[in-house]
Amino acid sequence: MATGSLTIDLDALMRNWQALNRASGPNVESGAVVKADGYGLGAGRVAQALAQAGARRFFVAVAEEGAAVRQALGPGPEICVFSGHMPGDADMIRDLNLVPMLNSVEQLTGHMEALPGHPFGIQLDTGMNRLGMEPAEWAAVAEIALAAGPELIMSHLACADTPDDPMNARQLKVFRELTEGCGVPRSLSATGGILLGRNYHFEVTRPGVGIYGGDPFVEAAPVAYLSLPVIQTREVEPGESAGYGCTWTAGDTCRLATVAAGYADGLFRAMGNRGHMFHEGVPCPIVGRVSMDLITVDISHLSVIPEALEILGADQTVDDVADAAGTIGYEILTSLGQRYTRSYAGGPGA
Ligand SMILES: *Cc1c(COP(=O)(O)O)cnc(C)c1O
Repeated sequence: MATGSLTIDLDALMRNWQALNRASGPNVESGAVVKADGYGLGAGRVAQALAQAGARRFFVAVAEEGAAVRQALGPGPEICVFSGHMPGDADMIRDLNLVPMLNSVEQLTGHMEALPGHPFGIQLDTGMNRLGMEPAEWAAVAEIALAAGPELIMSHLACADTPDDPMNARQLKVFRELTEGCGVPRSLSATGGILLGRNYHFEVTRPGVGIYGGDPFVEAAPVAYLSLPVIQTREVEPGESAGYGCTWTAGDTCRLATVAAGYADGLFRAMGNRGHMFHEGVPCPIVGRVSMDLITVDISHLSVIPEALEILGADQTVDDVADAAGTIGYEILTSLGQRYTRSYAGGPGA
């Protein structure tokens, strides 16, 4: 039996991308980040819907992820690989026509030896200290790299979700200094950077989480709807407890529902005694610990016994669930389990 049904609203996904594209400004191209299997929602279907919405440049984390995206999109759109060109990737990068974002002098020379003339981009590190060439490295190879005609020069902001953080302006300044007059399309901003304003947009933006309905794009429409079937309900008397470790005890007579999903499905154990599920807009608290495949919910205040309870959708965003689990919406999305029955609503051809 499936542990729940996950519905992905491709129309909402397309609207979110279009809104971020508009926010990026009129002469700026918005790409779309579809790494981690399209933030857990299915890279192929997501990429097709975003191509239909107008995206022409896609970003993945590693070359292997490019395969599913290329298969879904066909030969036209550009697919950029953040991790660059790693040993053993040359055949895949060539055959799928991927664009590696080269992150070091080593990657640059490796790429030029393995695939001379093949398109590439450059990633610069402007202070996050995660991925990309350092300013001194770039100074050493910029002339050679620019002569080979990169498709894109990019960097990534560490604190874009916090608009007031002085790190944003610092990184912007460094990026400008490193790329002034380079004559190549530039990209600095993911979802958070798009919302920082025009200065941060350059020629290309790279929205990810906002497309999928997550913060910091607070106006985003929900994309993932997750409903969990109720397997059993029971009445408990005051003083009775529920779940492993008996961490919850009934104060009054209560009706509990047991739903068929748990931490093995990406519903984090930290939500025990903290999170909520919903029935027609009415919140129902999770009581006791989250088990591997089961969660217990207090439905005493409902006038009916529901067949299912919603955990993601119109009543509760991925970020609400993340708050209850002590994490971020990104991790909720990318942890969505493989046991759910997945279906897509709307999108191309709908
Ligand atoms: C994941 C990622 C993005 C997208 O970020 P969001 O915050 O999801 O919009 C953009 N650029 C790089 C380099 C990334 O790693």
